[in-house]
Amino acid sequence: MSHRDHRLRDDFTAQFGAVPDAEALAPGRVNLIGEHVDYNGGRCLPMAISQSTYAAVRLRSDTTVTIRSRQQADAWTGDVTRLGPGDATGWVAYAAGVVWAMRERGLDVPGLDVLVDGQVPLGAGLSSSAALECSVALALNAALGRPDSPDVRRALIEDCIRAERDVAGAPTGGMDQTVSMLGRAGHALLLDCATGRTTDVPWQPEAAGLALLVIDTRAAHALADGGYADRRATCESAAALLGVSFLAEVTDPEAALTRLAGDPVRQRRARHVFTELQRVDAAVTDLAAADFSAFGRLLTASHASLRDDFEVSCAELDVTVEACLAAGALGARMTGGGFGGSAIALLREADVDDAVAACTEAFDIRGWRAPRCLPAIAAGGARVLG
Ligand code: ADP
Ligand code: MG
Repeated sequence: MSHRDHRLRDDFTAQFGAVPDAEALAPGRVNLIGEHVDYNGGRCLPMAISQSTYAAVRLRSDTTVTIRSRQQADAWTGDVTRLGPGDATGWVAYAAGVVWAMRERGLDVPGLDVLVDGQVPLGAGLSSSAALECSVALALNAALGRPDSPDVRRALIEDCIRAERDVAGAPTGGMDQTVSMLGRAGHALLLDCATGRTTDVPWQPEAAGLALLVIDTRAAHALADGGYADRRATCESAAALLGVSFLAEVTDPEAALTRLAGDPVRQRRARHVFTELQRVDAAVTDLAAADFSAFGRLLTASHASLRDDFEVSCAELDVTVEACLAAGALGARMTGGGFGGSAIALLREADVDDAVAACTEAFDIRGWRAPRCLPAIAAGGARVLG
């Protein structure tokens, strides 16, 4: 058990006066490629990262629920029979929502004490929200004495998705929760969003002297929520025009784009989806052959498509990508929904420091707050501790 786990256990005991019944961790994630394709029924390629959220849980003999986070000043207290949409709000909604969803599924969950400690930066596009949900779900599952199996994890993923969508009120395609629960060290997870099917894809750039760098621009533009809803609606209207439920079902993209020519914006949005789907397939092939140069070019092409066709990038993300490419990156792109958040760059190990310096300087001369850079290694999914 690592030092950090001990600290959580000690903290829990100090705050709640008894040792936890169970502890679990769940990782954040980066999406390597396949952006804005989840709600179009396509495939994406996220990986779990080593930055994780830890949760400790103790069941109580009454119905009181107390939730604390080391990242928040105030504890929240409620009643387990009254949890649900509209009860807990703010950060608590993610954790309380999981408890609610597990009860909704018919599990006999009594009152409980929860303490979480997250090392995934909040709101950086690395899915601290799914890490929080999944760590609480797995720790509670263990505290209830329930087994851990692939089927159990699938059910917990659904609980976490319901928590985020119905209680925290954030639309989610399920990619984050799936990879946080099912990720495997040294691998990315190919996720077919239409079927939920997952496949492990090898991801070990370190063996080739390469590193994946995450650059959190720390920019959050007001456009993010509205922009997401708008892109989603446009994609759905394009699919309706083409007579399919999801754009990913289109078998002849060229013909489809011709049919969409009457509305250039809608045509551009669809073109991003079609080309991004092709890039995901190409990426899987490149990674199977450990061809990181080809993979890097796909990253950069994905960024151009998100910037020019889907129009969800922003100045901070574009500047980051350009700075990384100038520093020798094999490829770079924005990751996540866009309008801020993080970019990723695939770099030679020896170029990482230069890339960090280049991004920092590019931000500095524009008067922007310094970006936060962190290495991303493909880590395993959520697990019970101890
Ligand atoms: P992301 O998932 O990309 O980090 P979100 O906006 O989806 O961004 O989720 C971030 C929110 O999740 C935070 O604002 C906070 O409400 C909640 N959250 C995540 N981790 C923690 C934590 N360790 N403690 C308390 N709240 C957290
Ligand atoms: Mg999130």
